[in-house]
Amino acid sequence: MAAKKQFKAESKRLLELMINSIYTHKEIFLRELLSNASDAMDKLYFKSMTENLGLSRTNFEIFIEADIENRTLTITDNGIGMTRDELESNLGVIAKSGTNEFRKLSKEAEDTATGGSAADEDMSVIGQFGVGFYSAFMAASKVEVRSKFYGSPNGEAFLWTSSGADGYTIEACDKADHGTEIKLYIKEDGEDEETERLGDFLLEYKIRSIVKKYSDYIRYPIKMECNKRQKKEDSDEFEEVKEIQTLNSMEPIWKKNKAELTDEDYNEFYKSKFHDFVDPIARIHSKTEGTATYNALIFIPKKPPFDFYTKEYEKGLQLYTSGVMIMEKCGDLLPDYFSFARGLVDSEDLSLNISREMLQHDRQLKIIAKSIERSIKNELKKMLSNEREKYEEFWKEFGAQIKFGIYNTYGAAKDGLQDLLMFYSSSEEKMTTLDEYVTRMKEEQKGIYFASGESVTRINSLPQVEAVKDKGYEILYLTDHVDEFCLQMLVNYNEKQFMSVQSADLDLETEDEKKEIKKKNKDSKKLFELMKEALTDKVQDVRFSQKLKTLPVCVSGAGALSVEMEKVLSQMPGDRKAKADKILEINASHAICDKLQFLYDNDKEMLKVYAEILYSQAMLIEGISLENPAEFVGQVAELMTR
Ligand code: ADP
Repeated sequence: MAAKKQFKAESKRLLELMINSIYTHKEIFLRELLSNASDAMDKLYFKSMTENLGLSRTNFEIFIEADIENRTLTITDNGIGMTRDELESNLGVIAKSGTNEFRKLSKEAEDTATGGSAADEDMSVIGQFGVGFYSAFMAASKVEVRSKFYGSPNGEAFLWTSSGADGYTIEACDKADHGTEIKLYIKEDGEDEETERLGDFLLEYKIRSIVKKYSDYIRYPIKMECNKRQKKEDSDEFEEVKEIQTLNSMEPIWKKNKAELTDEDYNEFYKSKFHDFVDPIARIHSKTEGTATYNALIFIPKKPPFDFYTKEYEKGLQLYTSGVMIMEKCGDLLPDYFSFARGLVDSEDLSLNISREMLQHDRQLKIIAKSIERSIKNELKKMLSNEREKYEEFWKEFGAQIKFGIYNTYGAAKDGLQDLLMFYSSSEEKMTTLDEYVTRMKEEQKGIYFASGESVTRINSLPQVEAVKDKGYEILYLTDHVDEFCLQMLVNYNEKQFMSVQSADLDLETEDEKKEIKKKNKDSKKLFELMKEALTDKVQDVRFSQKLKTLPVCVSGAGALSVEMEKVLSQMPGDRKAKADKILEINASHAICDKLQFLYDNDKEMLKVYAEILYSQAMLIEGISLENPAEFVGQVAELMTR
């Protein structure tokens, strides 16, 4: 008897979720096992093609055998099989990349579970990982996996057995052919609605319908012994005979005609192929002929997968040549800003033996990638004009990716992407595109105004925003860190310059107002010089401004790097602490002006303290934390108690 081994902690937790799951779609376990079988055969077929092993596609098949009496369901493939080590590492742990995320999520699910409705949470946790092999435990109380690796030395084969969370064993076994055989001991029917019909998974009609629904496209025959009624020879009577039948049509969905396919066909395919639990938000099914000949089926998910924003996430489309999968994730087919897209490309123009390195330089692949990029852009533009709500949903999930795209490519990709951008509009009070903004611009308006901050409310309270709004101009609110960096790369849109309302150069005043302020600034030159001295290293200049209505001060950016960008950069790791050039602007019609003048005439030391306080106040309005809050509080308290 082989010694029992424990599952890794996270795997155990996942397993427990599976075992106790009251999930209504238990049937997907079959889909997962059939996909694994198909992948294993793909792997061997690919190996055969590249190493000239002489196997033909017709050599491969999956066999399903249901034994109603013994309540077992066996799925056999003649794919590549697994070595002892592979059994151990593939079936003993959940996907490595997800382990940390899983730990976090399962902890959350646990917390929710103690609060009440655990089932849904559990399932959403599992869903984010792609259910995989463990889903077998939703239907089975015990699972045996017999596997023989292709080319296994001395024909050795191994048996992996587990009855659930308490662990598994691996021991040597006999197995004639290479490949994997998975035997499920189907659980007893339960009393409640969800578990009572588990025995149905042993019935021909049920298996047939599950295969049709989820695995029809699998390109290897999924066979099963079926009952068939036929006329008896030389008689009018009928008899039941057994016959091996192929349950799936084997035709890849992407090679079918669009007219033959329903939304459901596409959605089921997407979910089974890419392990998602929800339908995609959009799809592109294209057959392209010309400089490159290929079929593509691309989906835009509704939500990012759990690891989308981690380093582990790998972009890419599956790559097939003449129906054989040659790469699971071909990153070169997708630009980074569309890394959320899932799907596949099948082209006869690529060689089967092509290596990853060669592929990168393949001309044909580059043409295909360009063309795919174009179709994704067009699809998104179509969605934006025809299905606004859907687009906004998309934007919420993946908009940042596109904004990063503009920034990371130093604006090189802007032409195709700038029309996809959306920002919150001060006048519309909802998301708007740049094109829409421009059509609403006032005749004399000098550019596209924007303001940056943490949230719409926060930006609304900025004094500069009020001033621009008062002039009747619309402002775009930039609430994402990347926003301002993105606009900086764009420089302008439709020849309209982007202009920050938080910039010191904001040019809103009339000629008369400008003259007046110039004079005032000149008169107070000495006063400001003293204040500047008190704020060395902090501001480049101190001056009067017309744009403030009620508040006494604000701080404005004077260079290419805005105050808001400085804030974003300061939160990033590393000690590259870039500083924005700042101007302290004082409200020329505020009572503080007289006080400052008074202090200049009578108490220059106090004037310096006032300068510091005003500066701190301006920073707080901008939402920037003070370097020394205690000092600021001390200064204010001192004034309060005078
Ligand atoms: P995933 O398929 O998402 O990687 P699974 O839990 O379903 O996750 O399977 C884990 C791994 O076990 C697979 O990646 C594969 O390497 C291996 N495996 C599963 N089923 C088979 C099979 N029938 N033949 C060969 N290898 C298999």
